[in-house]
Amino acid sequence: MLRLNNINKVYGMGDTEFYALKNIDVHVKEGDFVAIMGPSGSGKSTLMNILGCLDKPTSGEYFIGEHEVSQLSDDALASIRNQYLGFIFQNYNLLPTLTAVENVELPLIYRGLSRSERRERAVEALTKVGLQERLYHRPSELSGGQQQRVAIARAIAGNPTVLLADEPTGNLDSRSELEILAIFQDLNRQGMTILIVTHDEVVAEHCRRIIHVKDGEIMTNKLIQEELRKD
Ligand code: ADP
Ligand code: ADP
Repeated sequence: MLRLNNINKVYGMGDTEFYALKNIDVHVKEGDFVAIMGPSGSGKSTLMNILGCLDKPTSGEYFIGEHEVSQLSDDALASIRNQYLGFIFQNYNLLPTLTAVENVELPLIYRGLSRSERRERAVEALTKVGLQERLYHRPSELSGGQQQRVAIARAIAGNPTVLLADEPTGNLDSRSELEILAIFQDLNRQGMTILIVTHDEVVAEHCRRIIHVKDGEIMTNKLIQEELRKD
C-alpha cells in the first residue's frame, strides 16, 4: 500500500547539511495499523509529512499503491492526497462557525458531490464515530473527544485508503483517548490502513506494529503479537 525505499530528507546545505531522515525503508501493508514513536526532534513529523505528500524527500522512492510520488509536482501531490489520504491532527482543526455535519461536508465539495450526497456521506461518517446525536452542534458545544471524532468523520467521509494521524490523542484525557482508540480499531477492523504518530505507550500498544524513530533513523519496526495487543 505504502512503500518508502531508502528515503533521505536533508535540511540546509553546504556545511550546515542536516539529515532529518536517513535511509528510511518502510512498508505499510493494506489493513496495517502502525504507531510511529520517538523522542522530540527524531523526525516523526518529517516522516509523516512525506507519507502524507505534504513534503518531498530529498532522495529515495515513495510508492502509494502503484504511484511513485516522491518527485511529483505540488498539484499532482494534492490530487494524490485528495484521492488516497485522510488526515487527523492533534488540534482537530475544525472550523468553529460550522456545525459538526458542515465541518465533515466541507472537504467533500472538492469531490464534485451534490449537496444531498455530501449530507448523506457526512451523516454516515458521523454515525460511524457515534455522533449521530450531535450533527448540528458547533465545536465549542462539543468535548475535546467529540471534536476529535468529528475530525475523524471528516477524514473518513472521503473514503481514503490510508488514515494519517499526528498525535490524535495528545490533548485528550484517558477516557476520551480510549474512545478515540476504539474508533481507530473499529476502522482498522473494517480494513482501513492507519498510521499514528504518538508519544503514548498505551496508544501504541493497541496498534499492530510499532516503528521507533531516533535521530532520523528507524531503530525498531516490530509487530505486536496478537495476544499482547490491547484489543
Ligand atoms: P519530531 O516530529 O520527531 O519532533 P521533526 O520531524 O519535526 O521531529 O524534526 C526532525 C529534525 O529536523 C529536528 O532536528 C528539526 O529541528 C529538524 N527540522 C524539521 N523541519 C526542519 C526545517 N524545515 N528546516 C530545518 N530543520 C528542520
Ligand atoms: P512536533 O510537535 O512534531 O515535535 P516541531 O515543533 O518539532 O513539531 O516542529 C513543528 C514544525 O516546524 C515541523 O513540521 C517542522 O517542519 C518545523 N521545524 C522544526 N524544526 C525546525 C527548524 N530547525 N527549522 C525550521 N523549521 C523547523
